[in-house]
Amino acid sequence: MERTFDTTAKTEKELQALQLEGLKWTVNHVYNGSEIYRNKFDEKGVKPGDIKVLDDIRKLPFTTSTDLKDGYPFPLRSVPFEKVVRIHASSGTTGKRKVLCYSAKDVDDWAEMFARCYSYADCTAEDRIQIAVGYGVWTAGWGFQNGCERFGAMSIPIGPGNTDMQCQFLEDFGTTVLCCTASMGLLMAEEIDQRGLKGKIALRKMIFGSERASDAMRTRISELSGVSFDQLFDIPGMTELYGPGTGLDCRYHRGIHYWADYYILEILNPDTLEPVQPGEVGEMVVTTLKKEAAPLIRYRTRDLTRLIPEVCPCGSIMPMHDRILGRSDDMFIYKAVNIYPSHIDQILSNIKGVGSEYQIVLFRKEERGKDHMTLRVERLHDSHHHEDKHLGKAVEHAIKKQILVSCDVEIVDHGSLPRSERKTKRVFDNRD
Ligand code: ZN
Repeated sequence: MERTFDTTAKTEKELQALQLEGLKWTVNHVYNGSEIYRNKFDEKGVKPGDIKVLDDIRKLPFTTSTDLKDGYPFPLRSVPFEKVVRIHASSGTTGKRKVLCYSAKDVDDWAEMFARCYSYADCTAEDRIQIAVGYGVWTAGWGFQNGCERFGAMSIPIGPGNTDMQCQFLEDFGTTVLCCTASMGLLMAEEIDQRGLKGKIALRKMIFGSERASDAMRTRISELSGVSFDQLFDIPGMTELYGPGTGLDCRYHRGIHYWADYYILEILNPDTLEPVQPGEVGEMVVTTLKKEAAPLIRYRTRDLTRLIPEVCPCGSIMPMHDRILGRSDDMFIYKAVNIYPSHIDQILSNIKGVGSEYQIVLFRKEERGKDHMTLRVERLHDSHHHEDKHLGKAVEHAIKKQILVSCDVEIVDHGSLPRSERKTKRVFDNRD
């Protein structure tokens, strides 16, 4: 199926050529436009002219959230103020907000990227898109709105909340696509069900921004709302990188296609900052290729994911990454393997009979100095003791297969592990 707003590259080779061109442009641009970047480059002893092939990206210095804080209120600005047409800020609660500048071209590029998202979600100009995300200084509303207008569908810029009005609009305007957070998607699905609107309204798609829906949540949303399961999409995005709209999972849901003609995604070992093997979990590090006002050079997002080194049945040459699997700050090292609690979380969620609560206990046996890992996992409330042994083996096997380390598994009673309303402590490292 022909997609609108798709990349001009027809092959992977052409895509790489676009990337190299964008990378060369970006390093020149930041070196000449930003004192902060120029100093970083000089400290590393790298000049824009040193970037000759894509792999040369590894010569470039990293950027972190500290750079954003230090540069507050207009960090990483690489154009004069007369070129800045807008700012956006994150809704961050701790420390100072992340504020990013946008040039007219940045705003335009972002709309193009977002229009591509609607296209990958198989929307058409006939669609009526109800945008139920926040409009304000943050990126959500503006992203969905400008993308929709660029795409050419009808936008209904309602904003979040107010379920009465949401339902009224669904009925009166014949809304076909609803954009919101996954939580609100669930709330709306419940309303649609309770009001007996299922089958009476034209809603056929939902696009979720900012938080990802679990499969269980999607199933529930689909059942209650009547929107088919494969028509529920996720849009990732962060303020530092334009905002939402930098990728989308297509109808096959094999992973999130990301717009590699606008940014380079490296997946690095957060410890060594070397690339991991394709398919291995690591930290997302992004470098923009067209951004003018606040470009990113090897920006460490601290988000963990992995590349999905497959070709999607949809035929797109846009590469895919997995859902966000957690934060690199939570990583621990066991037997020279980097392990993320969120990865264990994900493995457990695919095993029938275990609950969502678990603890990881690390200790060292005196006599040999060897490290051990014990995983305490709660059994589901309706499972039985006599299945424990079988269940323990299943967990052990899954961990071995997916993380490549051995561990002991202890199945414990449902409700026996402590719960916390704040972040639950999961890793107990008793080595040393
Ligand atoms: Zn696809």
